[in-house]
Amino acid sequence: MAIKALIGVILLVAAIMSGGIWLRGERAKPNAPAALVGMEIPPKIVAAKLPKNEPPIAPPPPPAPTVVQPAPEPPEPAPVAAKPAAEPKPSAPKKPVRIAIVIDDAGIDAKRTRRAIALPGPLTIAFLVYGNDIIGQTKAAKAAGHELLVHVNMEAESRNVDPGPKVLLRNVEPDTNLKRLDWMLGRFQGYVGVNNHMGSKFTSDAESMTLILTEIKRRNLLFLDSRTSPKTVAGKIARSLGIRTAARDIFLDNEPELEAVQRNLARTEAIARRTGAAIAIGHPKDATLDALAAWLPAAVARGVQLVPISALVSGKTSE
Ligand SMILES: [Zn+2]
Repeated sequence: MAIKALIGVILLVAAIMSGGIWLRGERAKPNAPAALVGMEIPPKIVAAKLPKNEPPIAPPPPPAPTVVQPAPEPPEPAPVAAKPAAEPKPSAPKKPVRIAIVIDDAGIDAKRTRRAIALPGPLTIAFLVYGNDIIGQTKAAKAAGHELLVHVNMEAESRNVDPGPKVLLRNVEPDTNLKRLDWMLGRFQGYVGVNNHMGSKFTSDAESMTLILTEIKRRNLLFLDSRTSPKTVAGKIARSLGIRTAARDIFLDNEPELEAVQRNLARTEAIARRTGAAIAIGHPKDATLDALAAWLPAAVARGVQLVPISALVSGKTSE
């Protein structure tokens, strides 16, 4: 037994030893060819094989320098962002101060309408449709760079005022009003929309205004609410119908004296400077025309931007 055990131990040791050699051999195997991996044919040998009359192959490009370039630097902190937020920004664009001056009731007093047309613009001139040579007058206004509105006469609260022929009335058939509107909109061309002449009664009646404004929308016109009544629903209905609309801020010449008009122009400018935009309505009256002749160039020199009414119909919804 002792001998057998001894032989067993010897065999075991021998087996371990031979296994160890085998293992070392396996480990050594990959090492042997690894010595050849890095071998490359020297460039000189390649060049020597080329015919002499051909240019030598360009040497392999040097290692791309980008490889050794340092990683791009992190962007520098923006100096603007580092400035304190409270620092004033002198280069910030000034808030626009836009004013639309609308001359209502044009076309009846041809002489004063001509004076209005001769004012520096662009102004917006709203023509009553039954003046003499309405086509000639409106063409002259448009040629001078002004924008045109059809000044549609609508029923007033007071029976003592005459809004003119073919006035839109609350208590007539809808079709009658639509025919009257169609007649008025056919008197001249080149207008962008409609505003109301008088109409303190008509513009406060939702049913009547819905009828008229639906037709104005169908014709893709804008609507300026002259706001002859604090009860007007015209702007609200126009917006609900998706019509481009705006509302007057200031009447310039309810008191047709030069100083009063000047005061109202100053109020208009103050609203525009506060809110960005204002709409003033005046008429072809001497006081208004005299005041505008002086104010228009002076206001522009102060940075006011004179705009036609179509520039203020979007987003100008003050009432
Ligand atoms: Zn009017």
